[in-house]
Amino acid sequence: MQNKKLCVIGDPIEHSKSPIIHNTMIKAMNLPYVYDYNKVAAGDIKKWIETAKRENYVGFNATMPHKVDIIPFVDVMDDEAKLYEAVNTVCFRDDKIYGFNTDGIGFLYSLLEKGVEVGEKTVTVIGAGGAASAVALKMVKEGAMKVNVLNRNIEKAESLCARFKDKMQAFAFTNQNLNLLAKDTDILINGTSLGMGGVDRDFEDLSFLSALPKTAIVCDLIYYPEKTKLLSRAQELNLNTLGGIGMLLYQGIYALEYMTGTKLDFNKMASLVKNELAKLF
Ligand code: NAP
Repeated sequence: MQNKKLCVIGDPIEHSKSPIIHNTMIKAMNLPYVYDYNKVAAGDIKKWIETAKRENYVGFNATMPHKVDIIPFVDVMDDEAKLYEAVNTVCFRDDKIYGFNTDGIGFLYSLLEKGVEVGEKTVTVIGAGGAASAVALKMVKEGAMKVNVLNRNIEKAESLCARFKDKMQAFAFTNQNLNLLAKDTDILINGTSLGMGGVDRDFEDLSFLSALPKTAIVCDLIYYPEKTKLLSRAQELNLNTLGGIGMLLYQGIYALEYMTGTKLDFNKMASLVKNELAKLF
């Protein structure tokens, strides 16, 4: 029997790690699937859905710029996708299109794995783009006492925080604000691209890390490099740290579970995929 087709769509897409992540798991589990990538330009999502149906795709992952523009084509959205108003995993099932979002749960799983509980904690998120928004909203849903969001474009942070006014508060991304907020922060998360490989911009001032309580954890959603300047400095200050690789791995494992309907062993899959990714980085 022919393998069932899965893929990731986006633009740009050539450098996506999703085919490696998914094909590693598919091979390890001997699943009857094959996972590829397809370049789908902004505005072409309707055309893509028709192609996917015609070519018998059973599911796909969506990344930039399609996580939001795909929503009108989805018949049933899960609660996570509704919460983030974004879809990263699509399944064709029983003549319906199902949309899921595994970004927030992927990050949460990596945080819990580190032994960090979110309930009653104060979380400070730097950034209000796609990844930062999903993580910030997940922290609210997971019972955080307060979620501060700092962003260069303050309007974006304000519109995100308007979703849960009693729990979320928007701030301009300034060192003064970071220093003030750091004092009461339990979980600090960088959701900007500052410090990402290939981007020549990084945090200019990391002095706010010294203002964090000694028990705080510093997280970076960036997975390449594995240890950003932010995480290195936090470790020098003996703070607990978490990189973005866990979020990348776990969002992928959850997505493959949805697309194939197969229960996966998270520890085993994460370790296999990590080994494969290590060959690339
Ligand atoms: P995005 O939607 O484009 O958001 C980018 C964010 O970075 C925005 O908040 C933007 O602020 C901020 N930013 C960019 N350049 C900046 C600068 N020079 N100074 C201050 N802020 C700046 O991108 P995204 O998809 O959320 O990705 C953000 C980061 O998360 C990337 O590094 C990506 O690698 C990482 N990520 C990780 C995973 C994972 O699985 N671990 C998944 C997705 C993304 P403005 O709104 O003011 O422009």
